[in-house]
Amino acid sequence: MQTRVKTPLEIEAMRVSGKMLATVLQTLKPLVQPGITTKELADRAASELKSLGGQPVFKGYQGFPDVICISVNDEVVHGIPSDRQLKEGDIVGLDFGVIYKGMITDSAISVIAGKPLKASHKKLLEVTKQAMEAGIGVVRDGVRVGDIGYAVEQILGAQRYGIVRDLVGHGVGHQLHEDPNIPNYGRQHTGPWLQAGMTIAIEPMATLGTDRVYIADDDWTVLTHDGSRSAHFEHTVLITEDGAEILTQL
Ligand code: MG
Ligand code: MG
Repeated sequence: MQTRVKTPLEIEAMRVSGKMLATVLQTLKPLVQPGITTKELADRAASELKSLGGQPVFKGYQGFPDVICISVNDEVVHGIPSDRQLKEGDIVGLDFGVIYKGMITDSAISVIAGKPLKASHKKLLEVTKQAMEAGIGVVRDGVRVGDIGYAVEQILGAQRYGIVRDLVGHGVGHQLHEDPNIPNYGRQHTGPWLQAGMTIAIEPMATLGTDRVYIADDDWTVLTHDGSRSAHFEHTVLITEDGAEILTQL
């Protein structure tokens, strides 16, 4: 399904949905510490969202078993919460989706449990977030998909990070994944045009090594081929006449 220009009512619902999502991620962030299990984090996400009045999107989506994806270290995305206990220095991706009044938002952060093991891990997170912000920075009415990918790629490429190509950003709103795809690489002035009123998810995934990934035996978890660590940040944004409104922040 092609992403549509959303109505003012739909946009308002996405603002509420996005605020709930951001609230849940901000609640989880300080809990990402050595000793906690990823299932405990997922249960907290579920209860927090319930108290806010939103509903989770991921549970049951193509059979995904939980409300949130939690991906640790070389797991890039789509990790399934489990009784795995976090260890000092783990890089933990929290990817969450919320539906409210039929409208969906999608956002992710990466957090280090306790102290980073290496300065390069902390930098990986900082730069991946910067890359997301650079992508958001070029968004406005009339932007092309390649412009966004180019902006993201410039930041990640400068550090020689692996840029995951098998997974991409996307339109979002009525469905979790709407067309077009929004890759984290690209050429300026190429690709589909986007217009004000559309809502998209921009989500760079970067690694300290390869851009090659594979899917684990659980059929979900996406891992780096070389075991290198990875980071993921994502916001859902509304395209406006002269910029972007980030919907998944407080
Ligand atoms: Mg997501
Ligand atoms: Mg997404």
